[in-house]
Amino acid sequence: MRNLVLKYISTRGQAPKLSFEGAMLSGLARDGGLYVPERFPKFTKAEMRALRGKPYAEVAFAVCSKYTVGSIPAKDLKAMIAAAYATFDHAAVVPLKQLGANDFLLELFHGPTIAFKDVAMQLLSRMMDWSLAKHKRRAVIVGATSGDTGGAAVAAFEKSANASLFILHPHGRVSDVQRRQMTTVTSPSVHNIALEGTFDDCQAIVKALFNDHAFRDGVGLAGVNSINWGRIMAQIVYYFYAGLALGAPDRAVSFCVPSANFGNMFAGLVAKRMGLPVDQFIIATNSNDILDRAIKTGRYEVTGVHPTSSPSMDIQVSSNFERLVYLANNRDPATVRAAMGSLAQSQEYTLKSAAIKAIRAEFTSGAASEAETAATIARVLRETGELVDTHTAVGLHVASQQKLKSPLITLATAHAAKFPDAVKAASGILPRLPTRLEHLLSAPESFKVLPNSAQAVKEFILSHEKR
Ligand SMILES: *Cc1c(COP(=O)(O)O)cnc(C)c1O
Repeated sequence: MRNLVLKYISTRGQAPKLSFEGAMLSGLARDGGLYVPERFPKFTKAEMRALRGKPYAEVAFAVCSKYTVGSIPAKDLKAMIAAAYATFDHAAVVPLKQLGANDFLLELFHGPTIAFKDVAMQLLSRMMDWSLAKHKRRAVIVGATSGDTGGAAVAAFEKSANASLFILHPHGRVSDVQRRQMTTVTSPSVHNIALEGTFDDCQAIVKALFNDHAFRDGVGLAGVNSINWGRIMAQIVYYFYAGLALGAPDRAVSFCVPSANFGNMFAGLVAKRMGLPVDQFIIATNSNDILDRAIKTGRYEVTGVHPTSSPSMDIQVSSNFERLVYLANNRDPATVRAAMGSLAQSQEYTLKSAAIKAIRAEFTSGAASEAETAATIARVLRETGELVDTHTAVGLHVASQQKLKSPLITLATAHAAKFPDAVKAASGILPRLPTRLEHLLSAPESFKVLPNSAQAVKEFILSHEKR
């Protein structure tokens, strides 16, 4: 079975090859790149047909075990998958709802913090704790959040025995519910930092901590942002689950994904590389539209971030796009290094013409303005009775602009009650939190406001980590 064991390599080609556990625990590669498997394992059509109608946990095991083989024994992986998805409050874990003749919504928000980040984070936290315990190690986990990753990480790691979690969120730029999901948890493992800056500032500090190798090795730094391969892996599963439900591998489907850091969409591409027939991938952005512009113009160009009603997509530096750039350039790390060098220096890079051509063969894109997002919430409610959140509405607006022959699955990335004010303004209806979350609104909060400085964050971590 040795030849089945996958190694993970950096998109920039200058970091050591790692095992699944190594890639999971390190997050960002030491050369600043992102880990990708050296090849994509494949499903045969017969294997896919055999998974049709199977419970989510079984599909998850079939997909994930191809990546974890050699690192995590099958029985341990099965147990972690079962525990992770038992925290979801829907029997299907990620139910697929039909909205129209050929339109479907994949509800990814039935986990503990009612956004899609739970799907990956609940499994990742268990795999990390398992690995740390096995190696008798401790870790400091740092993450930046535009709102939803943080809550999902806090819910996933609050009981961790071996990890201390430090989450940076942009002070005053996340919704009340998002903030309260992070700050009302009282656990000695969880530390919330409200950074005086934007999400991109938070992400830049996290990257700076990883690139400081002395600090990184000293505290055993690990990351849970969507650059972590373990998260991508867990997200591949629902593309298969939904595709199989609509007739894959004997019929192709299309996916529309409300996108920011491109982790969710990239997982879809990996599902396709593993054998899932996909007709079209549609990238949907809000008015922070770097991805839409990159697809349309071939130039990836950072401009300012402005706050929108879909704050989890208010970013300009889309980290996982680097993985797409790597694949679209036939896995040439020198091209990736040149592009990322240009990005660091002048805030932009231009894709090679062969690369943008390859990307356009699989992806289209669109952006939704604030008015279009609000109008979509009202229209979908009127036409289908579903009250969708602002991020999902961005996806549904962009999806509605497409003409496709295949069934189109839009990913519903959050529950409407996570963004109650914007949803009420658009629809007249105040979405209610699921009862299991109502306590959030009154519980006391705890967080530390820090200046936009990597040094300040380092000092805070050193004085609060678990030893
Ligand atoms: C994180 C998030 C997104 C963006 O997902 P990426 O993987 O970063 O592209 C979209 N919607 C919601 C609700 C999110 O929390």
